[in-house]
Amino acid sequence: MSAHAFSTQGVDHCPFVPVFGAPQVMFAKGAGTELWDVDGKRYLDFLCGLAVTSLGHSHPAVAAALSHQAGQLLHVSNLFANSTAAHAAQQVNQLLLEATGQHGQLFFCNSGAEANEAALKLARKFGGRGRHAVVSAYGSFHGRTLAALAATGQPAKHEPFFPMPDGFRHVTFNDINALEGAIDDTVAAVLLEPVQGEGGVLPADPQYLRDVRALCDERGLLLMIDEVQTGYGRTGMWFGFQHAGIVPDVVTMAKAMGNGFPVGAMWARREVAAVFQPGDHGSTYSGTALAGAVVTAVLDELRRIDAPWLAARRGAELTTKLSQLPGVAGVRGTGLLLAVELSPGIDAKAVYQQLLANGLVTNAVTATALRLAPPFTVADTEIDEAVAIMHTVLQEFV
Ligand code: PLP
Repeated sequence: MSAHAFSTQGVDHCPFVPVFGAPQVMFAKGAGTELWDVDGKRYLDFLCGLAVTSLGHSHPAVAAALSHQAGQLLHVSNLFANSTAAHAAQQVNQLLLEATGQHGQLFFCNSGAEANEAALKLARKFGGRGRHAVVSAYGSFHGRTLAALAATGQPAKHEPFFPMPDGFRHVTFNDINALEGAIDDTVAAVLLEPVQGEGGVLPADPQYLRDVRALCDERGLLLMIDEVQTGYGRTGMWFGFQHAGIVPDVVTMAKAMGNGFPVGAMWARREVAAVFQPGDHGSTYSGTALAGAVVTAVLDELRRIDAPWLAARRGAELTTKLSQLPGVAGVRGTGLLLAVELSPGIDAKAVYQQLLANGLVTNAVTATALRLAPPFTVADTEIDEAVAIMHTVLQEFV
């Protein structure tokens, strides 16, 4: 493995703006759980591009939908409708109807950050002048655009970009008293992840989410749930909020929605969505015909394989196996969004690098924990192979 992926290509200088650090591997091909780098070395992908490719790489149904639609119609602008995006929106609304019992409407976009931007603007319009603040949690991650970053509860990420947009405040996660203390008559909404993914795979306490829902009802606030990482079956239910049995007003999603195709969405209960008027929000690429075809193909396939059930079952198996490994202090998370907390003194980044060298893709989500998010389609033999690689590598560290 080269020290820097771009050096293997004879590229002296990385062609990208240096916001992503120096990648160590350059991939050329993927199929299912497997990836191959440019030198032909095989890897098992237990990260899925940060919980994106939940159906695995090069899924035939997704590839077929993409190539078919590419030959039909890609884009017509939002001055007109197109049938694939309209159909996809109906399918996603149906999924949310089943999860919430609420009829809602959808805004398509291209990423998780954009989905949250739409939600944050909706909250401001809903609250009205003077009631525009949004409360989110410390440790949260909501995206890199300025407002999504302001909502992100990680002050170190704000620091280089001061001043941040006005109207964002943060409270301790899973602490209802802290949230209650932060609410005054300038607050319009609360934005939370059901599992803080980037924050270290830290699940919200279901009772906390129920208390938040009750508080929002009492104060007339929107409850907005960021399902960008957790949505579409990843946690063992279609959406993470379902573990708490709550009904959000707004849900944002992306990642698994396109299985690698860039698409996101904001869903809002119909009465809440109605505060947006023509011209309030938009995007050239909101609801392209191509994205619509992919969203429908991915959702159809996720339903066909019963993604939440698979994620719950495989997640339980994987948790049991990982818990028995040397150097593992504990495994947290639900479904196939897991963090392996390493024994004190073991550096997660060093383990991650060794795993990568041994052909297993994971990520050091904190200094002491690895994140695992394999595809729902992962085979039993692939789970065993990944666990064996982890066993070998972890033994070197204990
Ligand atoms: N929200 C959550 C919970 C996320 O995990 C992420 C990305 O990791 C985002 C928002 C931002 O999504 P994107 O990178 O697609 O803008």
